[in-house]
Amino acid sequence: STFDDLELIPPLRKALREEGYDTPTPIQAKTIPSALEGLDILGCAQTGTGKTAAFALPILDYLAGEGHKAVAKRPLALILAPTRELAIQIGDSFDSYGRHVKVSHALIYGGVGQGRQVKALEKGVHILIATPGRLLDLMGQEYIFLNRLQIFVLDEADRMMDMGFLPDLKRIIKTLPVRRQSLFFSATMPKKIAQLANQLLHNPVKVDV
Ligand code: AMP
Repeated sequence: STFDDLELIPPLRKALREEGYDTPTPIQAKTIPSALEGLDILGCAQTGTGKTAAFALPILDYLAGEGHKAVAKRPLALILAPTRELAIQIGDSFDSYGRHVKVSHALIYGGVGQGRQVKALEKGVHILIATPGRLLDLMGQEYIFLNRLQIFVLDEADRMMDMGFLPDLKRIIKTLPVRRQSLFFSATMPKKIAQLANQLLHNPVKVDV
């Protein structure tokens, strides 16, 4: 299949052409159509398989339509990543795939002052790309409210667990609206991860690459 078969909006296809992508990777081909339909996804995939675009493209496709309706006072999509490095990488991917759409994102991670992050939040953003600790911190300070969230992505769930983020994760998930789309990615699927996925997802489409 080609990216044209995936029926993404033209500004996204244009960005992909400019990036030199012509064929979706297996995780993209299997994930994007279901994600565009609003279904939950349980994806078993390593980094390097193209999984970032597998969730970024459906989110941008959806929010490019939604985004024109109003300024995002509260974030509509959240991507949780285990590390600052991964969050930055995901942000770079959104910059690149989203260059022709008016969808904004902010990066939220610890280890740096919160001033710039708070400024970005005060302007309003559609998408948050965050690590759990700083996210909870800013939620506690009431700079972030997740009650309008429509799409939730958990990236590298197994690494998140290994790093001891499960309690943080549970606290964050409790604040999310029940009616939402969730996309869950993990390189491995041990029992504890499968259980977490089970709690998070509703009738997920299972994608294994
Ligand atoms: P990821 O697994 O999301 O970290 O992506 C791994 C690398 O593959 C990144 O450098 C992407 O820019 C690149 N990539 C992702 N999807 C495609 C594609 N369909 N065609 C060519 N390169 C891709």
